[in-house]
Amino acid sequence: MCRHLAFLGPPTSLATLLLVPEHGLLTQSWAPREQRFGAVNADGFGVGWYAAGDPRPARYRRAVPMWADPSFADIARVTTTTAALAAVRSATVGTTQDESASAPYTDGKWLFSHNGRIHGWPSAVEPLVNAIPASRLLTMEAHVDSALVWALVLEALAAGENPDAALAGTVRKVLAHAEARVNLLLTDGRTITATAAGDTLYWRSGPDGVFVASEPSDDGPGWNSVPDNSVLTATADGVDVRPL
Ligand code: GLN
Repeated sequence: MCRHLAFLGPPTSLATLLLVPEHGLLTQSWAPREQRFGAVNADGFGVGWYAAGDPRPARYRRAVPMWADPSFADIARVTTTTAALAAVRSATVGTTQDESASAPYTDGKWLFSHNGRIHGWPSAVEPLVNAIPASRLLTMEAHVDSALVWALVLEALAAGENPDAALAGTVRKVLAHAEARVNLLLTDGRTITATAAGDTLYWRSGPDGVFVASEPSDDGPGWNSVPDNSVLTATADGVDVRPL
């Protein structure tokens, strides 16, 4: 399983979000504390963030471990943002190993990450695959269950569903066909939407912003554990957690 994190808040450097915290995503790439499946997240990483005046996020993704990219540490120190989504990857067997399979995935204003696994994909979820238009399937970036989940989410968003309905509906559809862990994370830079379905999820909100993450970045107070089978919506105004 991977580890992921989303942030909304006052301008903050990517280093402050990811590299500096004692148990932040950098540390989680080699020593996650709450990961239930897999020991390290060394198969790549990615960060997406929003720059002022541009609704489309920038992305930086690599197929190497986060700790093995000193250039990222340098760039992260001087890149500030008010919204970001990042992930470190422990690749599922049989999936693309290059950076195209590293979250976050994107389309327009959206950033997306999947922490989990669909057992027996793609055949187990063939009815779901068949409902996706070929034009979307053929533009999937990588051969990985997460890209398929992203295609399902995009279909729901394109049909006009709200982000929380799109994520919750996708999780329910996948679980109706296959044994799966489907912790999803989605943002447009203003709202974070997430699911807890098979793995850990936490949130924290304070003057430094709102954080939604697979596990706490530090031992400070304020981290709230999200019960399994939940959908979460976070904005600058507050965090709402409901049953899936
Ligand atoms: N199945 C996804 C992948 O291979 C996510 C893996 C994970 O959560 N470890 O990238």
